[in-house]
Amino acid sequence: MAGLKAVFFDGGNTLLELDYPWLTDLARRLGANRAAPEAIGLAGARLLRERSLRYGRTPPVQDAQAVFEESFAAIAAEIGLPPAAAVEFARRSRREDQEHPQGLWRCPAPGAQATLAALRARQLRLGVISNSDGQAQAHLELAGLATHLDLVIDSSQVGVEKPHPAIFRLALAQFGLASTEAVYVGDLLDLDVLGARGAGLAPYLYDRFGAYPDVTEPRIRSLSELLDLL
Ligand SMILES: [Mg+2]
Repeated sequence: MAGLKAVFFDGGNTLLELDYPWLTDLARRLGANRAAPEAIGLAGARLLRERSLRYGRTPPVQDAQAVFEESFAAIAAEIGLPPAAAVEFARRSRREDQEHPQGLWRCPAPGAQATLAALRARQLRLGVISNSDGQAQAHLELAGLATHLDLVIDSSQVGVEKPHPAIFRLALAQFGLASTEAVYVGDLLDLDVLGARGAGLAPYLYDRFGAYPDVTEPRIRSLSELLDLL
């Protein structure tokens, strides 16, 4: 892409994804014998598609833990767990997210390492713009991705969050770039794609599980597709 100087990414469910093997094991132990990572991922992506605008952090979600548990119970129900087991699935998932030093979004997305390294080899500057709770940098470091990144913006540290254009402009300003010199990649239509476009960046919707088959926005199913598109 002519004139491209930087690529910005979303954090959760884009560069870092849920530990689907861990969640699959938990679901199976609670009775969903045929639970599979892809089904959990698709259920989660569809849920987020419906609800993402409700998950803002500024002002803070009144009861973030309740929202977490409600969401994970809905995912569990979607993959076939009965109500009591779904609640238990949500409780244990939340506990793991709180107690594990990397949280539950601890796995680099497929191809993340290689894609970031290849983009950097093209002299592109790379950054993350995350609606997060102050731990985005630490989680990216623990997952081994921070080494490829020039910038991590965490909404809770800058006081503004996606989809507000100010957080995208802040990222551009850090690199001294115009919006036409960068693209943005994220998994949510409203927060990521429409937010980035509102700030003048060309967006790519990262639709790992195929929750947005009807959407006409530029859409990728794997991060490595960027290497051909950019
Ligand atoms: Mg995300």
